[in-house]
Amino acid sequence: MDFSKPIEIAPDIFWVGYVIPDDSFQCHVYLIKNGKESVLIDPGSMITFPTTLNKITSILPINDIKYIILHHQDPDIVGCVATLETIIPRNDKVFITHWRTETLLKHYQWKTPFWLIDQHDWKLTLEGGRELEFIFTPYAHFAGAFCTFDKQTKTLFSSDIFGGLTEEFSLYAKDLSYFESVKLFHIHYMPSKVILNHTLDQIEKVNPNLIAPQHGSIIEKDLISPIIEKMRDLNCGLYMLDERESDIFILNKTDDLMKKFFEDIVSLSSFEMLLRNLFVNISNYIHKLKKMCVYRTVDAGYELYYLVDKKGVRGKKDGIKKPRTDAVSLVKLLVKDGVEIGKVEFYFDNTEKKDKKLVEMFINKILVPFTIGFDKDIRYHDLQVKAIKDVLTGLYNREYMNDALKDKMIEAKKDKKPLSISMVDIDFFKKVNDTLGHLCGDEVLKEISELLLKNLRKSDIVIRYGGEEFLIVMPFTDEKNATLKIDKIRKIVQNKTFCEDKVKITISAGVYQYGGEDDICRFIEKADQRLYKAKQTGRNKVVNL
Ligand code: GH3
Ligand code: MG
Ligand code: MG
Repeated sequence: MDFSKPIEIAPDIFWVGYVIPDDSFQCHVYLIKNGKESVLIDPGSMITFPTTLNKITSILPINDIKYIILHHQDPDIVGCVATLETIIPRNDKVFITHWRTETLLKHYQWKTPFWLIDQHDWKLTLEGGRELEFIFTPYAHFAGAFCTFDKQTKTLFSSDIFGGLTEEFSLYAKDLSYFESVKLFHIHYMPSKVILNHTLDQIEKVNPNLIAPQHGSIIEKDLISPIIEKMRDLNCGLYMLDERESDIFILNKTDDLMKKFFEDIVSLSSFEMLLRNLFVNISNYIHKLKKMCVYRTVDAGYELYYLVDKKGVRGKKDGIKKPRTDAVSLVKLLVKDGVEIGKVEFYFDNTEKKDKKLVEMFINKILVPFTIGFDKDIRYHDLQVKAIKDVLTGLYNREYMNDALKDKMIEAKKDKKPLSISMVDIDFFKKVNDTLGHLCGDEVLKEISELLLKNLRKSDIVIRYGGEEFLIVMPFTDEKNATLKIDKIRKIVQNKTFCEDKVKITISAGVYQYGGEDDICRFIEKADQRLYKAKQTGRNKVVNL
C-alpha cells in the first residue's frame, strides 16, 4: 500500500491522511467524492494538512468540496480549517457539526457558516441521492460528538470511537489484536463504560460494513462485531484515574495486572498460587524482575516466608535462603489494622525507572487485598503448626509423625539412603512425679525436649511419642552413627540435673536402622523392642541389637 497516495477504501471514498512519523497517535482524513457536492471529513491539523491537500487535489478540484464535517472541535480535526476555508473559493460551502460543537467553534470567527445536524433531522442527502446519516454519540468523548454513516457503502466515519493508539502505522486493522490499541485509547479518552456502551448501541443499529475512525486503523466487516463485543467490557475514564501518573502505557499495564490479580484472588485457593501468578504476570511486562520475597514480621525482625522466581514458589518449609539484600529494588511493608505483619521485596536486574514505577503503582493498588491474603496465610500456617505440635514440649506430635515418618521412609527407599530411628524413654519417671510433683515432672519433660533438639541435627525430627517417650527420626544416618549420637545424649542427661537442680535422671533408648518396612508401626516396633531390651538389662543404656 502506498500511503503517499490517496487510498480508496470504498467506492468513491478515499483516505487522504498523512502518516505522521514515529507517532502512536495517527490522524486520518476521509473524502467522499460526490461531484460538486463532495464531502471532507475531519480535515485535520496543520501537521497533516499539506499532504492531505495534495491528495485531495489529485482526486478532485478543491472547489468541489461543499461539505466539511467536523465531528468535534479538537485541534487534530479543526487545526487546518482557517487555512482550508481560504483555499476553497465557493461561497455555499458549510461546516457540518452539532450545536454543542458550534458553540465553541464560532470563537474562531471563520467566515463559513455552520450547518447543524440537530436542525436537519440528523441527515443530509447529497446531489445524486447519496445519503449521509448522523449518529449522535454524546460524551464519547465530547458532549456534542457524533459519527457519520454513508448509507450507500455502509461506511461509518466514527471519529474518535474505534480509534486506536498503535505502535506501528497500519491503515487497516489486521486482526483482533487491534483491540489492544482500541482499548488503550478508549480507557483513557472515553468517560465511562455506560457512555461507551450507549455509543456502541447506536452504532450497532446501523450495522456498518466498514468503520473508518479518525485514529488508529480502519476496521473491516468481519472484525467489527468481535471488537465491539470486547469494547463493551472496557472500564473507561474515571476508573483509570491516578493522580500521580500520566504515562498512559504504565496506567494501562497497571490496569491489566490489577484485573488479573483480582481474578486470581477470587479463583485461586492459596496465597502461594496467588504469588506464583503475580510473579508470572508482572514478569510478562518486566522481564528483568528476578525474584520476589515475602517476609513475616517476627520479634527478632523478619522471617523469610516465600521466595518466588522463575522456578516457582518456595516456602518456609523448603528451607529457602534470603537473597543478598543489596539487590533489593523495591520494598513494601504489609500493614494490617495499623500493625506491620510483613514486607514484600522485589529484585530486578538493572531495571529502568519506568519498570520500577509500574510495579510500585501496581503493588500500591493491590496492597490491601495482598496484605489480607498474607495475613490469612500466616494464620492458617500457625493453626497447622498448632495441630502438629505438642503443647507442653513444643515437639512434634504423633499426628505429624505419621506423615513425616512415612515421607522419610519413602525417601530412604527411593534414594537408597540410610534412615534410623530411636525410641527414648526416661527411666523411673513415675518416681519424679511421685516425689517432686507433676509440675516438676512437666519441667523435666520440657528440659529434656530442649536438650534433645539442641543436640540433634536440624534435619532430625523429634516427636513426643508418649508421656515420657520420644521418637527421634534421623535421616541419612546409619545405625552405628545413630547409636553414637543417642549414647552421647544419654551421657549428657546422666551428667545433668533437672528442675532447678532438684533431680537427676537417666534415659534408655533403642536404635534401629530402617530395613525396608512398608508399615510405620512395624518400623517403630523394632526400635521399641530394643528400648524394652535396654530397660530389661539395667536402664541408662542404648541398645541396637
Ligand atoms: P520406666 O523406667 O520403666 O520407663 O519407668 P517409668 O516410671 O518411667 O515408666 P511408667 O510408664 O511406669 O511411668 C511413666 C510416667 O510418666 C507415668 C506418668 O504419670 C508420667 N507422665 C506421662 N506424661 C506426663 C506428663 O505430661 N507430665 C508429667 N508430669 N508426667 C507424665
Ligand atoms: Mg519411663
Ligand atoms: Mg514409658
